[in-house]
Amino acid sequence: MAVGILPVQSDPTLLADIRRYGKFDPTGCYQCGSCTISCDLVEGSVSFPRKSIRYALLGLRAPLLGDLEPWICHDCGDCSIVCPRQAEPRISMATLRRFLSGQYERTGMASKLLTSRAWYFGSLAFAAVLVVLLILCYHLWYVGLPFSGLATPLGMEHMFPTMTYFTLTVMLFPVLLLLSRVHRVWLLTMGGEPRPSIPFSVYVIEAWTYVYQSVTHSLMRKCPERGRWLGHWILALGTVMMLTIKVFALRWFQTDNIYPVYNPQRWLGYLAAAFIFYGIGDILIGRVRAKKEIYKETRLEDMVFPILLLLTAFSGLAAHIFRYTGLAFAAHCTYALHVIVATPMLVVEMPFGKAAHMMYRPLALYFQAVKERAAQLAPAGEVIGHVV
Ligand code: SF4
Ligand code: SF4
Repeated sequence: MAVGILPVQSDPTLLADIRRYGKFDPTGCYQCGSCTISCDLVEGSVSFPRKSIRYALLGLRAPLLGDLEPWICHDCGDCSIVCPRQAEPRISMATLRRFLSGQYERTGMASKLLTSRAWYFGSLAFAAVLVVLLILCYHLWYVGLPFSGLATPLGMEHMFPTMTYFTLTVMLFPVLLLLSRVHRVWLLTMGGEPRPSIPFSVYVIEAWTYVYQSVTHSLMRKCPERGRWLGHWILALGTVMMLTIKVFALRWFQTDNIYPVYNPQRWLGYLAAAFIFYGIGDILIGRVRAKKEIYKETRLEDMVFPILLLLTAFSGLAAHIFRYTGLAFAAHCTYALHVIVATPMLVVEMPFGKAAHMMYRPLALYFQAVKERAAQLAPAGEVIGHVV
């Protein structure tokens, strides 16, 4: 018996909805298939990336929402280079990913931030101003400084344990928000009426795919531009190392725990910072030069995450250096700057902006692997997932 077959209706508003998220103009495409042949990421597919784009053009909203292929695309751009009609399938796939990110989030906040520059930059600025006010309130009322005493060289010690709680809160906020969307992504891409008969054991067996894809970015390695994979991988490694240090070892940064320069804990932090600088430098230089296909059509919003991450790393490093050299006031100010920059990145960009792809992409690859394994196990004739 066929399971998971959905009624299909064309939605005339879908195309306009998608175009709110960015450029989507594949109408010149005459289905020559050159993009499919040129793509190194899929083997044996006769429709990638054209299927997702056709869903959009035909107004097939439910199949598009259930489609995982936009996340398999890693933006390398070979398809756009070979396209004889300049239909720019790479850019269409990137717009579809933003559209899907907007649909995966229930409150509509991601949709607002991904479609409106005013909302996006306004939210970042709002979060930064809120942190400034928190810092002022903390010093004036909690610490009890007079307003004129704000220039007092307090160092950073007085912020503990407040600093620990604040850091954990703003770091856990995007993680919990992103995790709360897993069920909706699952419903859209694996659910539907009637539910596909995928045994729970298949989800368990394929769980390693999520970890493997998160850690290795293995599909991006298939892109001809190997340096891009290395830059991304090093950046992700440095970011995870730094977040882990901050979450589990924030006490390292306290004054009574000042370590000599040869201490391995310091070198672990320096190594993470070096990885972050290398990865961001690779991305920013590529985007500014915009010579490669992957960096064409860079949107202003695409620059925000790497710039905020760069400023966060610089200000954190500066606070660290000032503290270790005994410049208490400079350490105090640069740490405040560090928090003012890092917080909007963590509470706005990561859960609602483009950076959310860090969770959606491995999740989609995991669900895709589940579907493929379930299809192998299914009795002949049974259909898994959406059918159009
Ligand atoms: S290469 Fe261009 S014209 Fe040919 S199928 Fe792909 S998008 Fe369409
Ligand atoms: S951008 Fe790269 S990965 Fe994406 S469809 Fe085109 S060739 Fe394939």
